[in-house]
Amino acid sequence: MSRLLVIGCGGVAAVAINKCCQNSEVFTDICIASRTKEKCDALKAKLEGKTKTRIETARVDADHTEEVIALIKSYQPDAVLNVALPYQDLTIMDACLAAGVDYIDTANYESEDTEDPQWRAIYEKRCEELGFTAYFDYSWQWNYRERFEKANITALLGTGFDPGVTSVFSAYALKHYFDEIHTIDILDCNGGDHGYPFATNFNPEINLREVSANGSYWEDGHWIETKPMELKSRYNFPEVGEKDMYLLHHEEIESLAKNIPGVKRIRFFMTFGQSYLTHMKCLENVGMLSTAPIEFNGQSIVPIQFLKALLPDPASLGPRTVGKTNIGCIFTGIKDGKEKTIYIYNVCDHQECYKEVESQAISYTTGVPAMIGAMMVVTGQWKKPGVFNVEEFDPDPYMEALNKWGLPWVVCEDPETVTVWRQE
Ligand code: NDP
Repeated sequence: MSRLLVIGCGGVAAVAINKCCQNSEVFTDICIASRTKEKCDALKAKLEGKTKTRIETARVDADHTEEVIALIKSYQPDAVLNVALPYQDLTIMDACLAAGVDYIDTANYESEDTEDPQWRAIYEKRCEELGFTAYFDYSWQWNYRERFEKANITALLGTGFDPGVTSVFSAYALKHYFDEIHTIDILDCNGGDHGYPFATNFNPEINLREVSANGSYWEDGHWIETKPMELKSRYNFPEVGEKDMYLLHHEEIESLAKNIPGVKRIRFFMTFGQSYLTHMKCLENVGMLSTAPIEFNGQSIVPIQFLKALLPDPASLGPRTVGKTNIGCIFTGIKDGKEKTIYIYNVCDHQECYKEVESQAISYTTGVPAMIGAMMVVTGQWKKPGVFNVEEFDPDPYMEALNKWGLPWVVCEDPETVTVWRQE
């Protein structure tokens, strides 16, 4: 019924592609295209014979729009699922515009070179105007709205877990449980243990940049920025237990603040163990998280990319990771004149994921929603001209699909709420 071009063949892509192959009634044909074609061929070899989906592979460097356009023109997909890196968002969106096909991704645009003066000028202006200093924001991709409308194609932004499922949970809570939502606390807990002293669960460069940055939250119509890990909390997660968590800046806060009418406060918390935080601080202090190239033995290297080469490949953590993730949102607000609090969450077991698709739960909880978002677009359930975040569509078919495709969710109507304290 549909042809999907998947760009990227890392941890998240492998799960999304596995899931597309389980859903071969919708995804009759897929092309796996990435910078390293051997990875695409190896995944194809693993899946062929176990699925009705016809699989092709291709090499593409998505930093170059013309290469993506040429591939789209030769493969003729209905949509492009971008599960490469946030650095490629704009070049792939440009290619979709030029070739007239729908676009889907899981993370908003981030510049690979944060020292680039042209990018920096726009970034610094935004920091001043909006009041948060994260390197990523939605303005770059929201700027494509009119062009996507004119081209009569859809861009669906941020269909991973967070952003993605957490944003759909928000739309679902508003549709079915509240007249007004006043606060949203997004809680991302990884209770898994991979046995390494230090490793990241998804792309180390993206992960470490996110975690070492200032925190921020949305309150009463503006951003409040905190130092990294300044606000701490502890929460007793269903099926995982008590964990320390810290307030981070996260991209869905920006879109939910626009799309959930009347919301007064949105915060995002992620759990970290002490060992992870100590390693990260040390690496940061010695300059290993820097994205600025340095000269080393006559060669130019980017410290964080060198660090990535040293760390375990996130895709290799699957067999060794045990435990569960719990990701969800606590909403407070009003229904029929009464105050109300609910918690919608999903629990995912690392080893169960590994058994099913040979991946740990972090890639699983992102790859499944990536497939579901693509399904919403190619089946026409979420299709209109323009650029949209997931919470702008009807959440019901997506919520149903989460239950069907491996991420069942729970609504708890009497949850513990979050108490925060400041760290010295
Ligand atoms: P990986 O690093 O495992 O995989 C990235 C893939 O993209 C690799 O196959 C890589 O190829 C490919 N790639 C990189 N640059 C290019 C390029 N220029 N052209 C073509 N392919 C390229 O990352 P993950 O799978 O962990 O993450 C994928 C995406 O998912 C990221 O955008 C990440 O931010 C997002 N994400 C979203 C989450 C959410 O909940 N919303 C959570 C986790 C991740 P090569 O093998 O050659 O390096």
